[in-house]
Amino acid sequence: MNRVFNFSAGPSMLPLPVLEKAQKELLNYQDSGMSVMELSHRSGWFSDIISEADQLLRELLQIPDNYKVLFLQGGASQQFAMVPMNLMVNSGKADFVHTGSWSKKAIKEAERFGEVRVIASSEDENFTYIPKVDSSMIDPEADYVHITTNNTIEGTAFSEIPDTGDVPLVADMSSNILSEEIDVSKFGVIYAGAQKNIGPAGLTVVIIREDLIGKAPDSCPAMLNYKTFSDSDSLYNTPPTFSIYMAKLVFEWLKGLGGLPEMERINREKAQLLYDYLETSELFDSPVKKDSRSMMNIPFIIPDKELDGVFIDEAKQAGFETLKGHRSVGGMRASIYNAMPLQGVKQLVAFMEEFEGKNK
Ligand code: PMP
Repeated sequence: MNRVFNFSAGPSMLPLPVLEKAQKELLNYQDSGMSVMELSHRSGWFSDIISEADQLLRELLQIPDNYKVLFLQGGASQQFAMVPMNLMVNSGKADFVHTGSWSKKAIKEAERFGEVRVIASSEDENFTYIPKVDSSMIDPEADYVHITTNNTIEGTAFSEIPDTGDVPLVADMSSNILSEEIDVSKFGVIYAGAQKNIGPAGLTVVIIREDLIGKAPDSCPAMLNYKTFSDSDSLYNTPPTFSIYMAKLVFEWLKGLGGLPEMERINREKAQLLYDYLETSELFDSPVKKDSRSMMNIPFIIPDKELDGVFIDEAKQAGFETLKGHRSVGGMRASIYNAMPLQGVKQLVAFMEEFEGKNK
């Protein structure tokens, strides 16, 4: 089988057993005589799929009962607008932690709806670290505080979730949801585009505390109101059925693996392997401060930029895909989400060592 190790930031690798299961069930899902793509979203088959997906996600993340799981569309980018439309409704103010390109977009969108205050930023050092946030920085009147738990482009991640007291914490978890254990009760809203750790693109998962639902003004379009999807169990209109099915298979795979404690252990091992090598390498370097490093997205640079292209080309020939860094950071980036096997990282490090040997 000619599958490569795909280090793309998203859409990214899916677990092979999940793809195989989907392949097996593709033409005739559970004797329906149809593929999941052809099933009515109102059918019993699909109803089981979406409720099992909900149940499995609740189990994996230990989501408390006073939270709803919503299966939406529009990507995390739509949440940049939906969050303020639904939540910036009391004081009309929100506090943001600015940690990179994605938080910038979230801030810009929220500014359309109210008063945004950036309470901490790492822009002064090119977003190579996560700024300290403590509760004294937070406006007690703010409708919410927004953070990006993992910064896909810059390769940083919060190692500690800030305590925001009574102000709801909203988190863009697109690139690290399900990668480690988290305490959902610390958050008011968690949102994530699916195309990294959940499944194929087209699905957006929102986990929201029930008291935050139903606050949007009447002028809020139905499709952008959390209440619409909460009241209809995500079936107000046709949801991204196949993506939800794939997400369910990914959740089953994760559960079979041992759930998030085991996934986190594996992710730590994978990231450690690459970071340990970057520490000792005389060719490659990590641009990110040690205490702020992401386990999911690992950027690395070669001071002699001429070698970037050579490295990326040779890596591609060796079966390591999509290692080019984001245009705003340059260099290389290895995205090693849940589905990237340990073996993929081991082989990448061996390849980097060999490249270093040739190019020192
Ligand atoms: N936030 C983060 C942290 C992301 O990594 C991405 C996508 N890479 C987005 C938001 C935007 O997501 P989408 O493409 O699903 O709108």
